Amino acid sequence: MDILQYVIDLVAILLLALGIKGLSKVRSARGANQLAAVAMALAVIGLLVNYLGTSGISASAWTWIIGGTVVGGALGAITAQRVPMTSMPETVALFNGCGGMSSLLVALAAAFYPTELDASGLVAVVSIVISVFVGSITFTGSIVAMAKLQGWLSTPAWMQSKARHFVNIALAVACLVAAIELVVNGGSSLQGLWLLVIASSVLGIGVTLPIGGADMPVVISLLNSYSGVAAAAAGFVVGSQLLIVAGAMVGAAGLILTQVMCNGMNRSLVSVLFGGALGASASSGGGGGEYTNITSCSVEECALTLEAAERVVIVPGYGLAVAQAQHTLREVTRSLEAAGIEVAYAIHPVAGRMPGHMNVLLAEADVPYEQLKEMDVINPEFPATDVVLVLGANDVVNPQAKNDPQSPLYGMPVLDVQQARTVFVVKRGMSAGYSGIKNDLFELANTSMVFGDAKKVLGDLLGELKELGVGKK
Ligand code: NDP
Repeated sequence: MDILQYVIDLVAILLLALGIKGLSKVRSARGANQLAAVAMALAVIGLLVNYLGTSGISASAWTWIIGGTVVGGALGAITAQRVPMTSMPETVALFNGCGGMSSLLVALAAAFYPTELDASGLVAVVSIVISVFVGSITFTGSIVAMAKLQGWLSTPAWMQSKARHFVNIALAVACLVAAIELVVNGGSSLQGLWLLVIASSVLGIGVTLPIGGADMPVVISLLNSYSGVAAAAAGFVVGSQLLIVAGAMVGAAGLILTQVMCNGMNRSLVSVLFGGALGASASSGGGGGEYTNITSCSVEECALTLEAAERVVIVPGYGLAVAQAQHTLREVTRSLEAAGIEVAYAIHPVAGRMPGHMNVLLAEADVPYEQLKEMDVINPEFPATDVVLVLGANDVVNPQAKNDPQSPLYGMPVLDVQQARTVFVVKRGMSAGYSGIKNDLFELANTSMVFGDAKKVLGDLLGELKELGVGKK
């Protein structure tokens, strides 16, 4: 039976590794996700095979296993169907929280009811300590992150003061004391265990609550990494190589993603974690400087310029996702392509509210993958572009990031859309993007604002293009 489980685990690990690799490309992401799902199913089967071959599985345990699978599977399926793409960060936070809680529960179960399959000695105690500590922080931190993104929780005033650092340090010291007590007593100290659970759970709240809304997706990515570390530690607790490898992969992938997001937003991880709700992370809300020189135009003028273009670049942003205008956009670009106009989509790494947000949004509307161009590829192509259509994007096209050392965005890599001949910016009004600051692009001579909801504007644009006969065979 042991050999059978090893073989199943090995296949699951290979599929998981291939799945993670496949997720890095839009074209292979869907299949990669399915591979990872098969790997998870194999992991569960491997575990059951092992238990059947050793201690067996009692009837009551089967009830829990089947009940948990059915309830968890149904909840997962319903969530996946219902959650809108713009709420994905909250959903990921909730899933991370579940991962952290699972590792915590596995470690507590091993501490209270050790079996012959569990690790023993110092390895067991240290693994339980890490699993409980990281699992608790991940659980409570993720729930706070989700509640903040949903708008259910805001940062209390005292949490924005320096006093919070003292509270968090005191909690960290309590965790350390509890961990030492557990290690010294070979894991048998009940009060040490409960102190560790409580102190690390409160610490998870204490470190996440002060972090500003704009930085929250970065924190969620970091918590995702923590959930991997907690799972790897739980793998040591129950002696599962599969869990160790899978947890390590999730931990590393989450850390890399966190770094990519920090680079994309020009934020350091330290400033995200310890900057709290200060400064630029305090999220949007209009303002950030007055506009004095704005040119706006009608959808009809926009259609006329598009009709005469040879090359058009679309810049999707958060507003496009909010408006759910991806399908109407696809109809517009189909007419342009049918008229022989070259169309490409410029994808900024942090456009939207999560990494890959725009890729997923455009894939929903069957935009061909080869038309999606990453920032480094598309930036040199803007000078040779006739028209750029900025749809519900703001920060990711703000030239201040390159030109104004005083700007909070300074240093963030952005799309150089202003180098194109004509830029149309579609948004509802003059409110700011996530960073909350003014966008110099809107006042440039080659920029025209087309005010309105992205879906409405694109629908009208489609009508105008049809009237002009654009794309008619
Ligand atoms: P922004 O948040 O900068 O701007 C979105 C714009 O969309 C707003 O100015 C808004 O203007 C407009 N808008 C909103 N609703 C609509 C609508 N229905 N129709 C038309 N326009 C609309 O978005 P970007 O995508 O440019 O930038 C993403 C920002 O989010 C960056 O600052 C990034 O750092 C941050 N971020 C991204 C993360 C990621 O992983 N992707 C993670 C964390 C933060 P108006 O209200 O006037 O319409």
